[in-house]
Amino acid sequence: MKVLVLNCGSSSIKYKLLNMADSSTIASGAMEKIGLKGSFLQHQNKGQEKIKLEGEVLDHQVGIEYIIGVMTDPDIGCIKTLEEIDAVGHRVVHGGEEFKGSVIINDAVIAKMEECIDLAPLHNPPNLKGIYAVSALMPTKPQVGVFDTAFHQTMPKWSYMYGIPKSLYDKYKIRRYGFHGTSHSYVSRHACEFLGLDYNTTKVINCHLGNGSSICAIDGGKSVDTSMGFTPVEGLLMGTRAGDLDIGAVTYIMDKENVSPEAANTLFNKHSGLAGMSGVSSDLRDIEEQALNQGNEDAMLALTVFRSRIKKYIGAYIAEMGGCDVLTFTGGIGENSIIEREALCKNMAFLGIELDLEKNNIRAKDTLISSDNSRIKVCVIPTDEEYMIAEETMKLIK
Ligand code: AMP
Repeated sequence: MKVLVLNCGSSSIKYKLLNMADSSTIASGAMEKIGLKGSFLQHQNKGQEKIKLEGEVLDHQVGIEYIIGVMTDPDIGCIKTLEEIDAVGHRVVHGGEEFKGSVIINDAVIAKMEECIDLAPLHNPPNLKGIYAVSALMPTKPQVGVFDTAFHQTMPKWSYMYGIPKSLYDKYKIRRYGFHGTSHSYVSRHACEFLGLDYNTTKVINCHLGNGSSICAIDGGKSVDTSMGFTPVEGLLMGTRAGDLDIGAVTYIMDKENVSPEAANTLFNKHSGLAGMSGVSSDLRDIEEQALNQGNEDAMLALTVFRSRIKKYIGAYIAEMGGCDVLTFTGGIGENSIIEREALCKNMAFLGIELDLEKNNIRAKDTLISSDNSRIKVCVIPTDEEYMIAEETMKLIK
């Protein structure tokens, strides 16, 4: 079975075509700058060089048509005809309380997804555009929606309710939803398989550290708490997102700087975090270079806040779950930064976390990096959200 996975953003479409018979990737790529000047597609067939194609792409439907055209092209493509694709799986950011798992997309599901737009006005509309485009271009292909929020729908009420008047939850469904659910689910399950542990009885803390970062406590295969909240801005210090912040500071800034809710959203989502604190960059490699090699104090402070937040959440989740068996690192930073993993696990032996520095000297590979003495097993597990989406798609249409 071949599954096409689509991740449609506001001006981009990332895609991967997977052969589920042997879990291999047939091709992958990304169309960037949709609706803007200079749209381009980067496409790569398995085992071949990446190719870059330029062309004017005005909307997502044209973008998907373009991608399909390249995939079926006799010279540069990877399949003969569209018929070879059995189903399409879509990443959908917000499923609200409505979607507790992945679903086969039909008109009723689309209507419910449209109701969730209010909760994620930046993310859900482009996800839906991808669904509308596939419906128009390949009306008979089964489509499946896989939600970033669904895995966290198992959180107990005390994890997801905020200390605000209940009427606001009743009226607007304001609560913690959590994101990166596909990644947290995939990595925690895969870590248990890798270590030969029973997922249903293991306590895992997964640190998904990338440009966006979140931590999740998973007890017996169920998300019981996570650091992102009503929106992805809560929790850890991220590339450009502030993470945890006193509400009093938010209203004070809005008042003093005469900032509208929309501008405040931009400030705390796009100009804060590592980038805002350091004035250097949102990219952790630049922060590490400035902080550790160039003596930049602002970058060092940003890096220290980044690390300290993660440690606080690990401690909190161990306390919340009454223990932890496995700590996993994933995402661009979690998979690749040997320095950060070492810093995050330093002085944590009292909690049962001890790294083996030799074993930690790896990037992006399933690896046990804790010492033999470590009570908690620490692993690097590269995330594979596309594979997880393809697997969910296959399960549902079967
Ligand atoms: P993601 O959003 O998961 O793609 O992750 C992006 C983040 O991963 C950026 O902050 C990168 O700086 C970081 N990253 C990627 N490779 C490395 C590396 N080798 N060392 C440190 N950080 C890295």
